[in-house]
Amino acid sequence: MRKLRAKVETVTQLLERRYGIPRRRRADPIDVLIQTILSQNTNDRNRDRAYRRLRGRFPLWEDIFKAKTSAIIEAIRPGGLAGQKARRIGEILQWIQRQEGRLSLGFLRRMSSEEIIETLGSLKGIGPKTVHCVLLFGLGRDAFPVDTHVLRVGKRLGFIPEKVDAEKAHAWMAPLVPEGKSLSLHLNLIRFGRSVCRAKNPQCHICFLVDECSL
Ligand code: SF4
Repeated sequence: MRKLRAKVETVTQLLERRYGIPRRRRADPIDVLIQTILSQNTNDRNRDRAYRRLRGRFPLWEDIFKAKTSAIIEAIRPGGLAGQKARRIGEILQWIQRQEGRLSLGFLRRMSSEEIIETLGSLKGIGPKTVHCVLLFGLGRDAFPVDTHVLRVGKRLGFIPEKVDAEKAHAWMAPLVPEGKSLSLHLNLIRFGRSVCRAKNPQCHICFLVDECSL
């Protein structure tokens, strides 16, 4: 484990040297939650289109809460799986309303990250990636989401074992990420995975992490 921790630290430093340290931006936790649901099984462009259309038609969460499911489906159609996602969004807003008496996830701020993982993770259709995105981007916690790029690159670099899937990778990575570096490592690995260590045709001839690669 000590060797893996050292490797992840080296990768974090090399990525920061090349890409810099990403800046933290404040985001509403409900926004993060809904955007992560919209991102399931689609690419960023279609997710963003679906999200813009949704917020363009329903600027307030209260508007979405009161809207007919068919109207939400129509708004988010470009993101795919619109029926499933619209129902999920409706169920989550109802759950938030029941918890807090209003549409705010502010109550999560009073909870530990472990409690949040358990609470949000028990909701239907909310997996560890969504929960960790809410923790990291919505609540500013030191939590590390594992998406498809992070999983692929982590396996190629050898700090995520082949047999570990995306769900289990969250618990696997938690003790490996250097303290305070979740945001930096997450965003820089995604950038690296999109531009260099691509799913198809990885650009090994220009790779600056080649010495760390286990392929
Ligand atoms: S050498 Fe190739 S496979 Fe290995 S990390 Fe770099 S781009 Fe990915």
